[in-house]
Amino acid sequence: MIKEFDIIIIGGGPAGLFTAVNINDGRTLILEKNDSAGRKLLMSGSGKCNITQSGSISDFFSHYGEGGRFLMPALKEFTNTDLIEYLDSRGLKTINKKGKIFPASEDANDVLDLLLNECILKKVTINYNEQVKKLEVVDNGFSIITDKNSYRCTKLVIATGGKSYPSTGSTGDSFYFAKYLGHTIEKPRPALTPVYIKNYKFSDISGLSLESRKITLYRNEKKIKTNIGALGFTHWGLSGPGILDLSRYIEPNDTLKINLINQNPEYFRSAINETALKDKKITIKKFLKSFAIPDSLLKLILAELKLETTTYIADISKAFRNRMVELFCEYPFEIFRTGDFNIAMATKGGVSLKEVRCSPIIF
Ligand SMILES: Cc1cc2nc3c(=O)[nH]c(=O)nc-3n(C[C@H](O)[C@H](O)[C@H](O)COP(=O)(O)OP(=O)(O)OC[C@H]3O[C@@H](n4cnc5c(N)ncnc54)[C@H](O)[C@@H]3O)c2cc1C
Repeated sequence: MIKEFDIIIIGGGPAGLFTAVNINDGRTLILEKNDSAGRKLLMSGSGKCNITQSGSISDFFSHYGEGGRFLMPALKEFTNTDLIEYLDSRGLKTINKKGKIFPASEDANDVLDLLLNECILKKVTINYNEQVKKLEVVDNGFSIITDKNSYRCTKLVIATGGKSYPSTGSTGDSFYFAKYLGHTIEKPRPALTPVYIKNYKFSDISGLSLESRKITLYRNEKKIKTNIGALGFTHWGLSGPGILDLSRYIEPNDTLKINLINQNPEYFRSAINETALKDKKITIKKFLKSFAIPDSLLKLILAELKLETTTYIADISKAFRNRMVELFCEYPFEIFRTGDFNIAMATKGGVSLKEVRCSPIIF
């Protein structure tokens, strides 16, 4: 028997749930292939869910790369402040941690529970453990075939997510559905992902993070992009917001040069030279104390320079001083590859933006 609904939403992630509770246009059904909704949402922000950012909505545009202009109308229509008010009016208080907005409880479950409660209030039906296999355009709407049932609806929303973290259910079905409906699909690629580094020497300090460092991306010695952000050392490479943000531009064999001590290279060079002239008995350890670099990282850099912490600055040759400046202010990390979909937080590519209208939808 074919079941009839006004609206069918494929996917019970935050996009599907939020759409369902805001459509208000007849009988709505969400089809979710997992046994629960919002699996990825529960992982977001390490389980705390970084809901949005504070500040003016126009500050957001530049953070979406080339997509910023495209997203402008949608972001203006429902801003970060609107979202915070929406949650607040439904009992979810938020907190601002250095510009990042989280639920006050710092528990992503509270965000998911709010959306699921809204679904109950708005009488949205959610069918779990039901995977959409096929869809077709029919007269006055769509025909949907799942592994259990057949449906008809007049309006269809595909909210099946991208391809990142496929273990949460987002395995890229949206791209097949959209292609079937006639859209051009730009090759989906991992985005917001850590990077693997060639000949990586920092496994021993995995877990260490550095606040707000200048990170510059080079390809064939040409500067491609610069970002300032926090970074973390992993067992096999680099992660953290500063790296994740840049990752969509990074390709194998590129080089990331990172200013490990947050100092202008010329200032650092002069400081070395002046110290060497002023006092012959200043050791590297004493000299570097005034620069922001954790001991564990300092040890690894000095080992690479084949210098002891007890070496006097005045005894270091010009060639070694130059090498010091390079490693501390522009440490080169050569990219082996970027992380795959299993560890990427987002997907780039997908339905061509030329074929999508990003303005308020009137149902
Ligand atoms: C580790 C991690 C941390 C993150 N942290 C943050 C953060 O702090 N802040 C933030 O804003 N974003 C964060 N994100 C990104 C955020 O989680 C996603 O942008 C968001 O979940 C996307 O929502 P969505 O509803 O579009 O897709 P998804 O959350 O992927 O949901 C899609 C749903 O569709 C279902 N589905 C797929 N195919 C079918 C099918 N054929 N039939 C039926 N159901 C189907 C899936 O099972 C899934 O439940 C993070 C992501 C990751 C991986």
